[in-house]
Amino acid sequence: MSTLALLGGSPTLNVPFRPYMTIGAEERAAVDRVMSSGRLSGFIGAWCDEFGGGPEIVKFEAAWRAKFGVKHAISVNSNTTGMIAAMGAVGVGPGDEVIVPPYTMSATAMAPLFYGGIPVFADVDAETYCLDVDSVRAAITPRTRAILVVNLFGHAAKLHELRALADEHGLALVEDNAQSPLATERGRYTGAIGHIGVFSLNYHKHFHTGEGGVCITDDDDLALRLKMIRNHGENLVEPLNVADLTNIVGFNFRMTELSAAIGVEQLGKSDRLVAGREAMANRLSEGVRGLPGLSVPVVREDCRHVYYVWGARYDASKTGVSRAMLAKALNAEGVPTGEGYVQPLYMLPLFQKRVAIGGQGFPFNLTNRHYGPGLCPVAEKLHHEQMLEFWICSFDLSDAELQSTIEAYHKVFENLPALADFERRQAQA
Ligand SMILES: *Cc1c(COP(=O)(O)O)cnc(C)c1O
Repeated sequence: MSTLALLGGSPTLNVPFRPYMTIGAEERAAVDRVMSSGRLSGFIGAWCDEFGGGPEIVKFEAAWRAKFGVKHAISVNSNTTGMIAAMGAVGVGPGDEVIVPPYTMSATAMAPLFYGGIPVFADVDAETYCLDVDSVRAAITPRTRAILVVNLFGHAAKLHELRALADEHGLALVEDNAQSPLATERGRYTGAIGHIGVFSLNYHKHFHTGEGGVCITDDDDLALRLKMIRNHGENLVEPLNVADLTNIVGFNFRMTELSAAIGVEQLGKSDRLVAGREAMANRLSEGVRGLPGLSVPVVREDCRHVYYVWGARYDASKTGVSRAMLAKALNAEGVPTGEGYVQPLYMLPLFQKRVAIGGQGFPFNLTNRHYGPGLCPVAEKLHHEQMLEFWICSFDLSDAELQSTIEAYHKVFENLPALADFERRQAQA
């Protein structure tokens, strides 16, 4: 048995993984074409043909609609702004509650705040890390306006069930689909099951335009509202005779022609890019399945997992080695391994101090909800004890590197007694 790199042996992998690369000659040519035109954005913030953007935006949105089989695709400059627009479009106002998971990128829970909405945290499911339906149901009150669900790490939340629950209570279901493009549940793309689905085209995602995002919906009214919020919609109220002025306070959330041109090319290869991530994750799961205390990612029946993150659970009580020590050993072998993902978002200072918009505590002064430890025990346990992540969308691994990654896991787990011993001695020192 070879000695762990952490304990003085040689590492399994000597060369850091190459960063994940999605950009090629197609994107370069597309950018060149737009550069030659000189028109780097086509939007005008008034009622005219260009209200919906220039030719590249029009082409990009048509391609996105076709790909996801939806009536409307509204490009924006990030998933974050897309979610803000979505909160506006579904009518969130001061004091309205929006049910969100705590175990996600912070932007999810920020979106309601810009309209005075109150994020209400429901717990996640212990196996898929996405919102737990019973916890959501228990969180619904007469003040609930929307559910902002996250398809975390590349896996669908129970979207069809949540959609039924939302419809039953007259709520909007908005999907934060930043991490799960081309994931499916019951044969339908995630993002297309809620009333609005929001994608990210940020550099760190499966495919990207640097910064960018897209909202999709089949609802004509929501689509118009999203477009108005994206692009100074107050100027359209009169020409379009818009009756309901709620939240028609427009921003500039517009995507450039350059990003849109890149987006068309990226979408064109999205099947291949996502399938590559999926294949890598599946091989990793098969290669390490059954190691003591380690649970590889679960794929629910009737779902396609697209693996933004390969998120495994670790149970230290089965091995006698802490998660921190295990991660340290894996990292020393050359396998980049994260611990815990994010702390439950309600522990962020803004929730703890109840200060968001202005200095008077708005919008928290409209609610007596409190945010503190214990609110979502499953998410807390995942963060503090169980989660071990491998960031599939950060690296391109060769077959040999993937094989070595699997070998590194086996090496670490074969050396558990030595690690336990090392940890004991460290604790005594
Ligand atoms: C990346 C991410 C976001 C933010 O996306 P941007 O396009 O960078 O604004 C939001 N939610 C989740 C779950 C994400 O992973």
